[in-house]
Amino acid sequence: MDKSQAEPGIDFKDESLICCDCGEAFTWSYGEQLYYRDRSLSPPRRCPKCREQRRKRTTHVQNQHTDIDDTFARAREEIKKWQ
Ligand SMILES: [Zn+2]
Repeated sequence: MDKSQAEPGIDFKDESLICCDCGEAFTWSYGEQLYYRDRSLSPPRRCPKCREQRRKRTTHVQNQHTDIDDTFARAREEIKKWQ
């Protein structure tokens, strides 16, 4: 199935979210929203920049793979494949 096509009748569009770390707005694309909705996940709370910094800070910490921000990163990876 080709998931790059948005389902007709569902009006998803890019959304602007505020990062809980730096307070800046970042884009949550409709593709990502679909991914999150499919998995009943909470919206991301940090912008890509802060997630990257957080990841660097925590690379030495093991067993933290349930972090919601990792989910956001995985969503972006998968969406790239669809496009
Ligand atoms: Zn941020």
